[in-house]
Amino acid sequence: MSALREAFCADLERAASTRDLQDLRDRYLGRKRGRLVALLKTLAGAPPERRRALGQAANALKQEIEGELTARREAAEKRRGPAGAVDATLPGRAPALGHRHPLSLVREEMESIFSAIGFEILEGPEAEDDYHNFEALNMPAAHPARDMQDTLYLDGSIPAPGGGRPATLLRTHTSGMQIRYMETHEPPIRIIAPGLVYRRDTPDLTHSPMFQQVEGLLVGETVTMGDLKGTLEHFLRALFDDDTRVEFRPSFFPYTEPSTEVFITCVFCHGDGCAVCKQTGWIEILGAGMVHPAVFEAVGYDAERFSGWAFGIGIDRVALLKYRVDDIRRFYGNDLHLLEQFPS
Ligand SMILES: [Zn+2]
Repeated sequence: MSALREAFCADLERAASTRDLQDLRDRYLGRKRGRLVALLKTLAGAPPERRRALGQAANALKQEIEGELTARREAAEKRRGPAGAVDATLPGRAPALGHRHPLSLVREEMESIFSAIGFEILEGPEAEDDYHNFEALNMPAAHPARDMQDTLYLDGSIPAPGGGRPATLLRTHTSGMQIRYMETHEPPIRIIAPGLVYRRDTPDLTHSPMFQQVEGLLVGETVTMGDLKGTLEHFLRALFDDDTRVEFRPSFFPYTEPSTEVFITCVFCHGDGCAVCKQTGWIEILGAGMVHPAVFEAVGYDAERFSGWAFGIGIDRVALLKYRVDDIRRFYGNDLHLLEQFPS
């Protein structure tokens, strides 16, 4: 009897869960194979004068075991709280984290490359006026270059050719931030202005009516085209890889003179020629140039004393190349299959 009691106490010590407690109850008090029942059966063969005392002791032990088991179960339930409540002792479940959008990743990478070399990062209005988006950038009303950028006007306020009331529009590029910054600051200037821009475009593989650009502007007293080339080479190699070759080809923009279109070695074939680069080995990546004297005149800078350069690069275009995405529309489709491939 006392051996059984000791065995029970040792087992109870090891019981860790309510499941263990139930097992213990079955093992000791079970009606068919319980150890106590087995003990009681052996009592049947004991002398009659001892049977009564042994029966009382067995009953006492049974009650003791039941009492212990009940106390342990109640204590466990108290820790867990009322039925259906949260078990505060369970380890927590990690919440699902969102993922960074590929356009945000590229934008932040560009920002960190430029802030590391002393550029300030600005943001400006997406609803812009005609003056900052066009006129101050050497594109007066009826300038043919305006046709290069199909504009979305707000309030239905398309300006009459040759002037009329000022129109409000969704900015077609981030270049207006050059004007806004120079109007309120004196050189030297080193800024980049990332943000959304809008064009009246039909969406296809490479066009979206809304996309993102980063504008860059540097102005000082002895700024040369060599500074522009060196800075952009550094930027593009940091953005793509160290082996990227950079080529500057003559181009035209109303707000820069001279102007250049900048090409990099194709990120797909590394210059060997493929379908993406149309077998040329080169991919056009951005537009740039020396700030046009008419732009300095618009903001009241002395174009004889100051010179500067500017560039504009499409964030979407870089993301398409970097992440091998085949359709710009996928960046705006909220497709989790695409987005979940990027880090949190
Ligand atoms: Zn290629």
